Amino acid sequence: MRVGAYEATTDILNSGRDNWGGFTELVLHQRLDLSVENLVLQQQWQPLFSIEQLENARRRLQRLDYPDIPVLLENNPETVIDAKPERREYSANSIVRDANLAKQVKELYDYKCQACGIVLVAGNRKYAEAAHIKPVGEPHNGSDTLNNILCLCPNHHKLFDIGGFFVEDDLEIPMLGIRLFKVKEHDICVENFTYHKNWFEGNA
Ligand SMILES: [Zn+2]
Repeated sequence: MRVGAYEATTDILNSGRDNWGGFTELVLHQRLDLSVENLVLQQQWQPLFSIEQLENARRRLQRLDYPDIPVLLENNPETVIDAKPERREYSANSIVRDANLAKQVKELYDYKCQACGIVLVAGNRKYAEAAHIKPVGEPHNGSDTLNNILCLCPNHHKLFDIGGFFVEDDLEIPMLGIRLFKVKEHDICVENFTYHKNWFEGNA
């Protein structure tokens, strides 16, 4: 197959033109193996096209009741990008349930995120989340104590829970290029940061 044919095909697909008459007629009568649709859907050529183009071609073939429409290839680069990577679950309920403890840690930091320093303000109210470093309950069995709780904004809370950053013993956060802020009144059990990191690295 000449390269020019593929370029021409891609051109037609990218043009957004609706005039597929000739191709679809030939597909309908199954007389053209190299119809644009068929070409697009031949698995070895799929990586040349975007998912949208492939899906459009599939839809056109379906409208024609074309038999044996090939499936989209799993290893198409776009498919891989779109595929959700598996994430290791840390905790579904990592917000501190004990209202007093939650209030305590937030007041220690005046609702300022210990990672980014942002305070969310809504009128005369401030918002922050109290987050366990090592989640309480199975399988983690972290303690419900102030030395296992951080004051974080919702973004950094979520990021922490999906393993988007780890905190070192010296409170450095290399992945974000920042250091966790800590007031001297707040003792933090740094072993729990090690546990968090190990969990996501598959060692815990
Ligand atoms: Zn933050």
